[in-house]
Amino acid sequence: GREWHLLSRPVGWPKPEDFALVEAEVPAPGEGEVLVRNMYLSVDPYMRGRMSAAKSYVAPFELGKVMQGGAVGEVVASNAEGIAVGDHVLHFFGWREYAVVAAKNAVTVDPQAAPLSAYLGVLGMTGLTAYAGLLRTASFKEGDSVFVSGAAGAVGSQVGQLAKLKGASRVIGSAGSDEKVRLLVEEYGFDAAFNYRNGSVSDQLRAAAPDGIDVYFDNVGGDHLEAAIGSLNHGGRIAVCGMISVYNNTEPAPGPRNLARLIQTRGRIEGFLVGDHYDLQPQFVREVGPWVRSGELKYRETVVEGIENNLEAFLGVLRGDNTGKMIVKL
Ligand code: NDP
Repeated sequence: GREWHLLSRPVGWPKPEDFALVEAEVPAPGEGEVLVRNMYLSVDPYMRGRMSAAKSYVAPFELGKVMQGGAVGEVVASNAEGIAVGDHVLHFFGWREYAVVAAKNAVTVDPQAAPLSAYLGVLGMTGLTAYAGLLRTASFKEGDSVFVSGAAGAVGSQVGQLAKLKGASRVIGSAGSDEKVRLLVEEYGFDAAFNYRNGSVSDQLRAAAPDGIDVYFDNVGGDHLEAAIGSLNHGGRIAVCGMISVYNNTEPAPGPRNLARLIQTRGRIEGFLVGDHYDLQPQFVREVGPWVRSGELKYRETVVEGIENNLEAFLGVLRGDNTGKMIVKL
């Protein structure tokens, strides 16, 4: 099977020469392990962080070795009790066609209950990120006015729709193209949306939220964060989920110039990691699963085919090629 190795640590934007698609032997599963033929691979912004050596919340990818990421596949050989050939499992050994996975690191998923790719997105990691970040970190409550950046992406599109379903007074989204902005308003039910490439984020946010915002769900950082602080209402909350605008920076980005506004507003800004919130997973699936099935919560995926396009799909996420979750289908 083929697998993607990291050869050198990218400086700035990752370059194709930093990676190699390598042919590797398909090993037999050992005691307590299964062999999985991967069917869907996840590519996510946080992977950029793992390509660097800097200390972070997950260990860096090792040079000359296969990278990792979320994946769903079919079990083709099993040496583990409780998992049979033909079962489908979610696991963490993506960026490769075949993976040997210890049973304890594999979660069986039901292809009848949801399309398999949904376990990587709307009902998986990015879905839980939206749910936990909005409800727990941002302490969302009915009547709040919510602003979310990266709003046409996997996490952001779910944040905005969850807020609407849970009684937000107003939901505003920002995204990087007019087509994405149209999708937010016309299909996902956002009250307002703007293209951050079309002008100043703070001006556009002020126009879209004349009464200010109570919650900002940050996927982007930079001028978006400063704009949100500038529009924050008394008692406002900012959940820092991601800051994709800085991931390829080679120098630290300047911080928001208006942090003092947090005093006046008694505002709170708090970062979170989805990994700390898996206790919410059953509640998340119970509550959001039916909305996904009924179509009340809509989602899109951008699907790229073939292991050879895994890297391009990842770079595409950083460029904004995707609408909704970026998925690689093998
Ligand atoms: P998305 O599906 O949102 O894809 C990333 C999007 O970011 C792109 O589609 C692009 O859309 C946008 N983008 C890229 N560069 C910029 C920029 N310079 N300024 C503004 N927007 C930009 O990815 P995810 O939903 O998977 O992740 C969204 C955020 O959530 C990321 O910051 C990620 O790191 C974070 N995250 C954090 C987790 C946590 O536990 N804290 C867990 C999962 C994700 P556009 O066309 O609109 O520019």
